Amino acid sequence: MRICRFDDNRLGVVTDKGIHDVTELLAQLPHWTYPLPVFDPLVKNLPKLRPALEQQSKQSTPKPLKGVRLLSPIANPGKIIAAPVNYKKHLEEVLAQKELHHGNLINEIHRAGLFLKATSSLIGAGQRIELVHLDRRNDHEVELAVIIGKPARKVSAANALDHVAGYCIGLDITIRGPEERSFRKSPDTYTVLGPWMVTTDELDDPSRLSFSIAVNGEIRQDANTDDLVLGVKELIELASSFYTLHPGDIILTGTPQGVGPVCPGDVLFARMDRIGDMRVEVGAAK
Ligand code: MN
Repeated sequence: MRICRFDDNRLGVVTDKGIHDVTELLAQLPHWTYPLPVFDPLVKNLPKLRPALEQQSKQSTPKPLKGVRLLSPIANPGKIIAAPVNYKKHLEEVLAQKELHHGNLINEIHRAGLFLKATSSLIGAGQRIELVHLDRRNDHEVELAVIIGKPARKVSAANALDHVAGYCIGLDITIRGPEERSFRKSPDTYTVLGPWMVTTDELDDPSRLSFSIAVNGEIRQDANTDDLVLGVKELIELASSFYTLHPGDIILTGTPQGVGPVCPGDVLFARMDRIGDMRVEVGAAK
């Protein structure tokens, strides 16, 4: 199933016919008072909601995809986890270019571990990336994004995929410079998730997905998840050995070679096998 959020916080199921509006099912989610949960309520309740989602989507008249503004398919992730240099060729590329590493010691993921991006950086494909610090180089990074479905604590790689709800395309926008990664990758709008979440019944094996990103029509990154140093299973094992993963947590699995600058006015086009494609505009923050 392909689940999206669009326009004014509406919920949709995407089929070949378009978007089926299933927003009224959100009323079935439990209501919380303060303190709010650290998981995403929709992702947590997806297994329960699933039959109703299917039924409701069959009944609703589809809207054309073209006319809607896509939001992040996950509204309230507790964490956005990201993998640094997790493709071998990207590590070589970073080590070779001073404007990418800025004298920072670049380690392979085995030594570097994972980092976090601010959840307030998250947008959907229909919202604009708004760059800050235009005097600095801002880069695109296209990645496979994993959405956690069930709590995961000290999970082995062998069982890791049982804890996944689905997959999206992720953009990990980055200001180059000497500061810590999480600081340079956390401005508002610097994490794009989309175009929708494809659940695991439709996409069960994330290990051989080809994907690419073009900037103004020119292909910049073109790779396959079979080149990952740590695959999805190993990333979940590593992450869950340090902290609990909750439903709705996002793991950006790392970007391949070919990172490059983006500027206001650019249009990004990212696609991934079995997920789909998304067009994202780039502007400048006011
Ligand atoms: Mn990245």
